[in-house]
Amino acid sequence: MRTYDCDVVVVGAGPGGSMAARYCAEGGLKTILLEKKAEVGAPLRCAEGVSKKWLEEVGIEPEPMWIRGDMKGAIIKSPQGTTFQLDESKAGSEVGYVLERHLFDKALARDAAKAGAQIMMRTSCTGIIREEGKIVGVKARSMGEEIEIRAKCVVAADGFESQVGRWAGIDTTLKLNDIDSCIQYRMVNIDCVPDYCEFVIGSVAPGGYIWIFPKGEGVANVGIGVMGRLCKGNGDAKYYLDKFIAEDPRLSKGQILEIMGGFVSTCPGLDCAVDDNIILVGDAARIIDPITGGGICHACRTGMYAGKVLTECAKTGDFSKQALMPYEKMWRDRMEDKLFRNWMAKEKLASLDDETIDELIKMIKDSDIGEVNVYNLLKVVKEKFPKVVEGFEDLI
Ligand SMILES: Cc1cc2nc3c(=O)[nH]c(=O)nc-3n(C[C@H](O)[C@H](O)[C@H](O)COP(=O)(O)OP(=O)(O)OC[C@H]3O[C@@H](n4cnc5c(N)ncnc54)[C@H](O)[C@@H]3O)c2cc1C
Repeated sequence: MRTYDCDVVVVGAGPGGSMAARYCAEGGLKTILLEKKAEVGAPLRCAEGVSKKWLEEVGIEPEPMWIRGDMKGAIIKSPQGTTFQLDESKAGSEVGYVLERHLFDKALARDAAKAGAQIMMRTSCTGIIREEGKIVGVKARSMGEEIEIRAKCVVAADGFESQVGRWAGIDTTLKLNDIDSCIQYRMVNIDCVPDYCEFVIGSVAPGGYIWIFPKGEGVANVGIGVMGRLCKGNGDAKYYLDKFIAEDPRLSKGQILEIMGGFVSTCPGLDCAVDDNIILVGDAARIIDPITGGGICHACRTGMYAGKVLTECAKTGDFSKQALMPYEKMWRDRMEDKLFRNWMAKEKLASLDDETIDELIKMIKDSDIGEVNVYNLLKVVKEKFPKVVEGFEDLI
């Protein structure tokens, strides 16, 4: 059997894996990045919306090639039609880009390769190799051939369906409550507001929301995420999305070019995302915003943290759980409070009826909250509807 040797093997060339591979390679580590698919970034499983501020934090330079639209703001709608439009002056860090996600992912993988990482496409990790109980690499099927990749540390960046962490003995199971199912259509011939990302909340999307993210020239990603347990009867995301489209005159004459489905976790991350000789990043570590389901920035951040910590570990040759703990500290210091707060807020929002949501949106619309972000919105809610934030008021 063909065997490869490296310092770090990264499983999955999504944003989390490519960033981890780039930072490991920049740190001088011999890095191999595995991707099971034949093309990085395809097929698309994303609404392609991101805010802007974090890009600089993780060392990503915006490139026209992967920016489909530079948004002027966002629109939040209640099911009763109350609309709250946030312009750039108010939306601050929440205003962002609509991406060409397949090109974005390819750009990150390109940067990993430029830094010196070896990318192996059509290479699916099939198991962990242990010797005397210690993880020493992974097994994989590469272009039909069984191979082994020996490494001092494994980075599991294999996304929502992650198996690598589980194979390593880490509990990555999700409660039904903490999974949103999603479906999205790429629609043409629709009449959406250009340059504004639109979100519709309430019973139109139980426990989640509908999004309309414009891609220009009457094209948009129109999708929905729903909490399974709250969907009565026709409990699938497609039912709710089709109903919404049929009842919205701007969309009802549109045509669908592309359909995709997927899942997002909506919990505040794993209890621990490291073990001896393994680190989990991005969706594999369940590190994703529980309210918005946005995970690209979290995957990039955790990938970068993993790369930086592994670079330090290589200096002593110690990749034990203890030595990898700075990774835990880094992501928790940066994101844990926010993830926990948004997780609690998601649970509360899911329990509100349409009338209350309508009142909330009207109230937010009339209040002067400066920059609009989830934190500032919750501050207003705390003042006027303290019951909604009961249990996590300390984080607001
Ligand atoms: C419908 C939907 C809409 C979304 N919209 C947004 C949005 O608008 N904005 C946002 O920020 N986030 C969004 N997200 C979430 C976002 O897509 C993820 O959080 C992000 O992709 C996580 O990156 P990742 O690198 O952790 O995982 P992924 O991007 O899922 O990458 C994992 C990679 O690992 C590969 N892989 C898996 N198993 C193996 C294996 N055994 N061997 C080798 N390779 C393997 C996969 O092929 C994949 O390329 C959305 C998610 C869904 C489902």
